[in-house]
Amino acid sequence: MAGTGTFFVGGNWKCNGTKESITKLVSDLNDTKLETDVDVVVAPPFLYIDQVKASLSDRIEISAQNSWVGKGGAFTGEISVEQLKDIGCKWVILGHSERRHIIGENNEFIGKKAAYALSQGLGVIACIGELLEEREAGKTFDICFEQLKAFADAVPSWDNIVIAYEPVWAIGTGKVATPLQAQEVHIAVRDWLKKNVSEEVASKTRIIYGGSVNGGNCAELAKQEDIDGFLVGGASLKGPEFATIINSVT
Ligand code: PGA
Repeated sequence: MAGTGTFFVGGNWKCNGTKESITKLVSDLNDTKLETDVDVVVAPPFLYIDQVKASLSDRIEISAQNSWVGKGGAFTGEISVEQLKDIGCKWVILGHSERRHIIGENNEFIGKKAAYALSQGLGVIACIGELLEEREAGKTFDICFEQLKAFADAVPSWDNIVIAYEPVWAIGTGKVATPLQAQEVHIAVRDWLKKNVSEEVASKTRIIYGGSVNGGNCAELAKQEDIDGFLVGGASLKGPEFATIINSVT
């Protein structure tokens, strides 16, 4: 942890859960003692945001997993930033690799979404990360910087952005990046921000790691100088394990 801000842990529930399982998860989270000096955010599926907002402790903020690129209207199947705010969301995850590589969202579209969400006052968890073949071809930095540049070109300010470095080969695979592999990219991202945005943004922006983070590997990762938190998928569906990850900063 580089000491640049409060440790930030997000739980990305993805397309998982039922009313029943979410009731249990929320109750587990409400019953768990969480470090006070950590920002905690969970991202339930849209359908359950209202249920979670109504039952989860205010200690934890709510994020959406996606948002529409502009003002709402005739966009079948989409959810607008205005609606997310109306329902009490403070954050939105954008550029997640599953949306890039399965749904086909590109850098430009993701940048526009980020700019719109920020303009309406939502915080953005901006995801970047390379595929396995890109890493093997030695292109990790090129890919991450290209994705970062698309955000930088689109957004008016970095005040409300958290960057999530999530190597795609580590997401949901159980193959976590080693603390060194993660640190190497995090420091490179910070350097990129320093050179291309500003020193202030580089030192203030939290850069969190995602990809098979769990209760067993979080403490080692959290010790790295430039890892300012985590974005957690699978392990965030288990209340006690997610709490261990949140509390790993100490
Ligand atoms: P995982 O997912 O923790 O299940 O690897 C992380 C993410 O996709 O944000």
